[in-house]
This record gives sequence, C-alpha cells and structure tokens, in this order.
Amino acid sequence: MAANWYPIIDEEKCIGCFQCVDFCPHGVLAKADGKPEVVKPEDCVEFCRGCQKVCDQDAITYSGEN
Ligand code: SF4
Ligand code: SF4
Repeated sequence: MAANWYPIIDEEKCIGCFQCVDFCPHGVLAKADGKPEVVKPEDCVEFCRGCQKVCDQDAITYSGEN
C-alpha cells in the first residue's frame, strides 16, 4: 500500500493510448471516458515508475515525488 505514491495524469498531455493502464499489474489505473483514471491509488507500489516509463507523452507524475 502506498497512500502517498500514486500516478497523476496530465490530461493536457495524455492522448488516451492506455499503455499505462495495460502495463500496471496492480490495477491502479482503469480505462474511463477516453482517459486513464486512477481507481486504486492504495495499490500503487511506492517508487514504481512503470507506467511513467511506458508513457510516450510524458503525461505521468506521482503524488509524493516531491
Ligand atoms: S500512457 Fe500516457 S498518454 Fe497513454 S493513456 Fe497513459 S498517461 Fe495517457
Ligand atoms: S507506478 Fe507502478 S504500480 Fe503504480 S500505477 Fe504505475 S505501474 Fe502501477
């Protein structure tokens, strides 16, 4: 559980390719309305940056990274 570490999607940069949703093995992200939605932030793994790495648009940052 990582209450202080979960993805934040930049809606302006995101193109809705859903690579991040398909990548995350913990179901943190879900496909919703053409854009990913953070549905299970508590299941995100602290300091994992997997979804950020697969995002070509540089649209993902993390709560708790600063
Ligand atoms: S990988 Fe990046 S551009 Fe694609 S849906 Fe996720 S946040 Fe959006
Ligand atoms: S940081 Fe890792 S665990 Fe968290 S949503 Fe992205 S891929 Fe999933």
